[in-house]
Amino acid sequence: MKRKGSLTVVCGSMYAGKSEELIRRARRALYAKRKVQVFKPIIDTRYDETMVVSHMGVKHEAVPVKNVADLAQAIDKETDMVCIEEVQFFDDGITDLAMQLADSGYEVIVAGLDQDFRRRPFGPMPQLLALADEVIKLRAICMNCGEEASHTYRAINGEPAHRDDPIVLVGALEAYEARCRRCYRLRGEPKKRFRPS
Ligand code: ADP
Ligand code: ZN
Repeated sequence: MKRKGSLTVVCGSMYAGKSEELIRRARRALYAKRKVQVFKPIIDTRYDETMVVSHMGVKHEAVPVKNVADLAQAIDKETDMVCIEEVQFFDDGITDLAMQLADSGYEVIVAGLDQDFRRRPFGPMPQLLALADEVIKLRAICMNCGEEASHTYRAINGEPAHRDDPIVLVGALEAYEARCRRCYRLRGEPKKRFRPS
């Protein structure tokens, strides 16, 4: 009944353009008269409840879902393309669902942060990346020096975050920046340098 399915992963740091790429692909599918559904986890309430909004303000409607089971429930039979924003926030079950969908003929596009602010692989991203048909890794511009940036740096009250800082810090002024390898910092974990013998 359907075409051959596929799984595409769009990843990179914050500000890399993941939302823009996902929205661009969703729009192209809509021009092709294909049925598209866009989902996002409920945790991501940045800017707008029912929309995906890129940092430049490009918008697309997205259905907020609580978890993988709710996402699976919300997929329509007639849908051709399933897009998932902020996919790093779902549990490992998202990988199974993405594979099932792709194997059943859906075109699946997921976008997410590949690394957290400590530069650890984020949630289900390693599995998704390994199993994808296509991987798009985007880079942002380092907000400190202007080089290409692959990391997401977390600042708390203007200082580098500590590696053990909780994800939610009440009352602290915090900011996330795209940073290159050289400008990236994390307190409690100095970069290990290789010294040739
Ligand atoms: P992501 O979903 O990866 O966080 P978005 O698609 O929301 O990224 O936003 C990408 C856009 O943000 C870029 O096209 C650019 O216009 C803008 N932008 C703001 N700060 C930066 C930066 N430091 N590096 C690259 N783009 C940036
Ligand atoms: Zn830099």
